[in-house]
Amino acid sequence: MLLVINAGSSSVKLAVFDPALAEVARAQVSGIAPGGHAAALAEGLAEAGVAPGDLTAVAHRVVHGGASLVAPCRIDGPVLAAIEACVPLAPLHNPANLTGIRAMAALAPGLAQFASFDTAFHATNPEVAVSYALPPAERQRGLRRYGFHGLSYAALVRLLSARGKVPRRLLACHLGNGASLCAILDGRSAATTMGYSPLDGLTMGTRAGSMDGNAVLHLAAVHGIEGAARILNRESGLLALGGSNDMRMLHAAGTAEADFALDHFRYWAVRHAGSMIAAMGGLDAVVFTGGIGENDAVMRADILDGLHWAGAQYDAGANRANAFSIHDPSSRVEVLIVPAGEERQIAAEAQAVMAGE
Ligand code: AMP
Repeated sequence: MLLVINAGSSSVKLAVFDPALAEVARAQVSGIAPGGHAAALAEGLAEAGVAPGDLTAVAHRVVHGGASLVAPCRIDGPVLAAIEACVPLAPLHNPANLTGIRAMAALAPGLAQFASFDTAFHATNPEVAVSYALPPAERQRGLRRYGFHGLSYAALVRLLSARGKVPRRLLACHLGNGASLCAILDGRSAATTMGYSPLDGLTMGTRAGSMDGNAVLHLAAVHGIEGAARILNRESGLLALGGSNDMRMLHAAGTAEADFALDHFRYWAVRHAGSMIAAMGGLDAVVFTGGIGENDAVMRADILDGLHWAGAQYDAGANRANAFSIHDPSSRVEVLIVPAGEERQIAAEAQAVMAGE
């Protein structure tokens, strides 16, 4: 059996897969104190009914692979050092991911460990898409676009290719508390809305999305760097505009503020989608995933309505054939829904690395 670990600073999510990649168990441990990850992993495994001896390998979600870690790999000394080197790029996430890796090594010494990176899917973006127009010294510091939600996008490409073929110019919308779009051309990422960090792009649950750098500098001048970071990442977005970061609450509220927050989300999703469609030179299909993408039929219909100029349309009354496809036959652009599948993707990537060794 293969264990997938998504380690956060105070929580850890576990999923166990059999060799056919069927999920056999899942567990989550929260409220972990510093230094408590090994005990939390043991607790999670027990909750999942799995003993460390049952495992053939462990695969970790690592948020940031930087410019060098662009493919899943077995974790050894140099890989650990490379993940460590990416800590300045993801100061909250990578240290937590490393804690998970070290805790697992303590719990099951000698067990093979693998890493999959949330940035890696976007390694195919052209240089012009990832470069900020900054002086060379700043670019050499690693200031560039990386993009995130890559494991979610890779998962949906894998699922679509297993079911037939991946539409040539596919607009992928990962809409959850964090939200991004990806232009997937011939099955590969060509552009994405998140950049140096997951703050860029769409209006999100608590993140502001795209902003002018000078406005960010003004926030930092008024509130200090830490204060500005808190405001931009945790106190902005739907929460700031509508009083909640939960779409369900915003739809139910019926206040002017909540309606404006919904409008803002939809408007910027459509504006950024236009940019993704331009990067692909057109549109053949739209796929939705994530908590909002999978569940919020009203928001999906609103976004598709905003993309009718690109051939997308979706009549909310039209057939929803199954949980996978909502293809409206009157639309020339196919519309799909795919359940987010990052964990299975991480398991599949670890399997592929093992098979290739
Ligand atoms: P995620 O980050 O992918 O787990 O998505 C979380 C978000 O999905 C929540 O904050 C909600 O806004 C949204 N969501 C979940 N279920 C629904 C639903 N039934 N209708 C609308 N939005 C939903």
